[in-house]
Amino acid sequence: MIDFHAHLDIYPSPEETVSEIIRRGMYVLSVTTTPSAWLGTYSLSRKYSRIKTALGLHPQIAHERISELSLFDTYINETDYVGEIGLDFSENHRTHKDVQIKAFNHILRVCENSGGKIMSIHSRRAAAEIIDTLKMYPNAGIPVLHWFSGSKSELLQAIDYGCWFSIGPAMIRSKRSLEMIEYMPKDRILTESDGPFAQVEGKSVMPWDVQKVITVLGSLWAMGSKEAEEQIYNNFRKIVSLKTSRI
Ligand code: MN
Repeated sequence: MIDFHAHLDIYPSPEETVSEIIRRGMYVLSVTTTPSAWLGTYSLSRKYSRIKTALGLHPQIAHERISELSLFDTYINETDYVGEIGLDFSENHRTHKDVQIKAFNHILRVCENSGGKIMSIHSRRAAAEIIDTLKMYPNAGIPVLHWFSGSKSELLQAIDYGCWFSIGPAMIRSKRSLEMIEYMPKDRILTESDGPFAQVEGKSVMPWDVQKVITVLGSLWAMGSKEAEEQIYNNFRKIVSLKTSRI
């Protein structure tokens, strides 16, 4: 199983979560919300090659942590993965739109200068802006839009640009999201938890809850869970192998 967007450092017991991931033989992209969290989060799983740690600056806190961009630059060559990054223009966060845009542009420029990264991107109420900005940095790497919630036309633009998508248990509970998933190319889909932030029925999603997503994808794709899991695994192998090449 693949969890391509988890906040391992935020779980109540990160070490136990890491042990369970290893016990289950999962592959996980451990994203961070601030550059200053990178080292500590990386050290949680550094001995396990199946868990990769991404360097991030979450758009919802970019205005508080903009001074950490220099730290972002310091660590960029330590990893092939960047996230969580992006823009959030939803009602509670659009006040800090300008500083988010500044941080996102800086990050994409740095990714481009360091040869391209796999990027896990938050695009709430800002998918069109995300795609327009990505186009300004064509060598920044491979964008994976996590928990996509934009419009159909934004989805088509994202697909056209070559974006990948990661889908979690919270997302498959929405009828609208399921309709969107049907339009996404099957060979550019990964699973994610977005735990512990993402919750289902009042409980934080765990990395292994991606199993539910695999089952739903299987029925959308008219195949069994085993086959859907294989598809996701092949997608994962592919994106990892593309790593630093142009999309
Ligand atoms: Mn997240």
